[in-house]
Amino acid sequence: MRLLLAEDDPMIGEAVRDGLHRQGFAVDWVQDGAAADLALETGTYDLCLLDLGLPRKEGLQILKGLRRKGSALPVVVMTARDSITDRVEGLDAGADDYVVKPFELSELAARVRAVLRRKGGRAAPVITHLDVTLDPATHEVRREGQVVPLSAREFAVLHALMEHPGRILSRAQLEERLYGWDEEVGSNVVEVHIHSLRRKLGADFIRNVRGVGYRVPPVE
Ligand code: CA
Repeated sequence: MRLLLAEDDPMIGEAVRDGLHRQGFAVDWVQDGAAADLALETGTYDLCLLDLGLPRKEGLQILKGLRRKGSALPVVVMTARDSITDRVEGLDAGADDYVVKPFELSELAARVRAVLRRKGGRAAPVITHLDVTLDPATHEVRREGQVVPLSAREFAVLHALMEHPGRILSRAQLEERLYGWDEEVGSNVVEVHIHSLRRKLGADFIRNVRGVGYRVPPVE
């Protein structure tokens, strides 16, 4: 999952970026509204964490612009202003949820997961496919009920593939889900994770679609 974090406060920004990164999200961090607009135009994100009070362009204007263009990108608004008006205005402008600063990282992460779950059209928090279950909240993966230990990046690859069984994700799309801007991408890192996942979950669980990418085959 790749998130855009728009936050001008360096301490909050760093804490949120690092905290969500530890939870397996790729996080791109921008510190003003114009940079947020540019990132949203050029990048592909699963969710945006948007501070309302941003230099160069207010968060609310960014949000309104997104919705005007018909974007359904999930947006969680972060605001220090805990006045009811700001929250109502944010929600009315198309925010999916909000957190009021100061917030606990665990609460923010839970709200992010809940919004992603709703947007994915799933009410149940656990994703099940064939004999494998994946819990985005606890990062626990089980096969036939037995816990399968995965690294954070193996988990992220599997999560991306299991969200939409049958859909093919290219290597570049998977890399995008794994890495933020400030990280080096190894040359065959996706292949390495896929290889390891197949070893742990069974060779047929993830299929290679030659020249296109990878997918979890749909149940027939
Ligand atoms: Ca701010």
